[in-house]
Order: sequence, then C-alpha cells, then structure tokens
Amino acid sequence: MRMLSEFRQSKLVAGMARSISRHATKEARFMEFCGGHTVAILKSGIRQLLPPTLKLTSGPGCPVCVTDNADLDKAIALARLPNVILASFGDMLRVPGSSSSLQEARAAGSDVRIVYSPLDALELARANPEKPVIFLAIGFETTAPGVAASVLQASQEGLKNYYILSLHKLCPPITKVLLDSGEVNLQGLICPGHVSAIIGSRPWQFIARDYGIPCVVSGFEPLDILQCVDMLAQQVAKGESRVEIAYRRSVTPEGNLTAIRVMEQVFQPAPAYWRGVGRVADSGLLLKPEFKHFDAELNFEFDPGPTKTQKGCICGDILRGVKTPHQCSLFRRVCTPLSPVGPCMVSSEGSCAAYYHYGGSDD
Ligand code: SF4
Repeated sequence: MRMLSEFRQSKLVAGMARSISRHATKEARFMEFCGGHTVAILKSGIRQLLPPTLKLTSGPGCPVCVTDNADLDKAIALARLPNVILASFGDMLRVPGSSSSLQEARAAGSDVRIVYSPLDALELARANPEKPVIFLAIGFETTAPGVAASVLQASQEGLKNYYILSLHKLCPPITKVLLDSGEVNLQGLICPGHVSAIIGSRPWQFIARDYGIPCVVSGFEPLDILQCVDMLAQQVAKGESRVEIAYRRSVTPEGNLTAIRVMEQVFQPAPAYWRGVGRVADSGLLLKPEFKHFDAELNFEFDPGPTKTQKGCICGDILRGVKTPHQCSLFRRVCTPLSPVGPCMVSSEGSCAAYYHYGGSDD
C-alpha cells in the first residue's frame, strides 16, 4: 500500500507541473465534476501551478448542494411529524430550505439525529422500535450501495420502522444535461474518483465518444489531480478524446460489481430534481416496487409547503459551472460559513465554502 504522503511530495508535484506546462500547448478548460476535487484543488493551490493556457471550472458534484429546496422541504416536513426520528448526514442540517432548515426543526422540537452512515440509521430503528426512523438518503452512486444494503438488511431483519427518503443523484446523466445545455465550453472532464470507484470508468465513455471531450478519472491527492490534468492536456494536444484513469488504486473500467448489484437489486432509475437545473430524467434512484414499504414518501402524509429559493443566491449557476462564488453579491458580505444563505456555503464540498476558506480566482 502506497502512503498518502507519496502523493503530496513537493518534488513530484513540481515535476508534474512542469510536465503539464510542456503538454498544455492549446488553450483548454477542464471541469472538475466533484466538490471533493474543488476543495482539494483550492486547498493545495493547484490552479496557481497551471500554465495560463489551462483553466479549471467547478461542477455540480456536491450532493448536499444539488439537493433541491423542494426535496429538502420534504425532509423538514417529515422531521416535523410526531414521533418520527429523522436521521441525516450532518451537512444537511444547516442547509436552508424554502422557509426553514432541519436544524431549525430540531430546535423547535423535532427529533433530528446526525448519523455517519445508513447503518447508524438502521441501528436507531432497532433501538427505537416504537418510532419510525427515516433516513435522509442523499448522495451520488458512492453512497447509494450502502443505503441499498441497509434496506436489504432491514428487510432481512423484518424491521417495520425503517424508511428512507431517496434523494440520490446519478452523475453521468447530469453531466450529459450540462453538456447539452451549451452553457459551458469544456475541453476536458476531471471525472469523480469516488463515484467512479463504484460505477467504473466506462459510464463516462459517451462523453469522449459523443462530445469529443477527453475524460480522466482522478483521485483526491494533489499529485492525483495534477496527473489527471496532465493526461487531459496530452489528449487535448493530440486532438484525442478517450476515457483514462489516473486513480488506478481505486478505480477500474468495470467498477465495483458487488456494489452495483446491490444498488440495482434495491433501486431503479427515476427522474430527480437538481438545484439550478430542474428535473432530469433517469438521474435519480427510487426504491423498486418490492421495497416500497421502506419509502418515506409513500408511507407518510406530509405537507412540504410552497417551494421558495433564497433571494440573491446563485448556487444553481455555480453548480452548472457558469458562475463562480465571487459573482454572488452575498458572498462573504452576507453569506459566510457561520451564516450560510445557500447550500454551497454550508457543505464541506461546496464551492462557496471552498472559495471562502482557501481563496479562488474567477479564471
Ligand atoms: Fe449562495 Fe452564499 Fe454561495 Fe452566494 S455565496 S451562491 S448566497 S451559498
């Protein structure tokens, strides 16, 4: 096992930066899909290492950020039901919905618990058999297999009080929508490492084939990302478009077949609503009919109320890669990590939080 420090050695980083400069003979803009990459890029100063010909743009890869207000409102309404325990990842609590947040619901008396995995939520259900426990299932293909496994486990144990609100999102379909919109002009895609560890690199092939855009799956260490950028720059220089992997210690072309099997056993593709984009066909996951008794939306009566968006917040534009946090009039002045207006400032993988903490130019 190679140590992480190997991927941060300054000599290797400097060598890779020189290699990129040699290969970046043509102007190009690459999008890092994943919020984890955005954070790593800003935190480690990768943008400053790149030649002026190369620009990086942040994409929609933050599951907290892309969760639409209408969906968050459903979670808040469910949390307000009497006797219910709503289990959620911590980042979601502070995200403002249309008129409230899970944190505010908790302050008003709702039983909202922070969990670190769906298995924690399952444990809550076992420990509280007299209460319905609803897991707020957000995330991309990375988290969906774990949620699917929790549903299978609950089914096997005969748990009658475990439910999920499935707000999962799938990455390749939204990428297609972004490219089809024509709003962003990309010459390369830095494909998400954790998502690709599950789905493999093959689901990105349509981008290279149909759009002529090079794709490289990247890890999250500075050297991983620089190697990815170098591989993209080489493809651009040669006029090629292929899918490559710069994260071979975790990603294969076919992905994690066991995880995919579990996910497909429990879920089926369905439309999903993305912040800033709207409804995208087959970009979400719904429980299959045989697991509908675990579906919180179908098993509770609740009223999420009218959907509103935060005035002045441009998270949607940032998630589509057409604006940067600096272009939001609220950034730093009104919206800060202590007093966030939108999800991109709340989430640890949000662009606005990353720009706030580590700086970031508009290039
Ligand atoms: Fe929204 Fe705040 Fe980011 Fe502006 S700075 S886009 S208000 S999260």
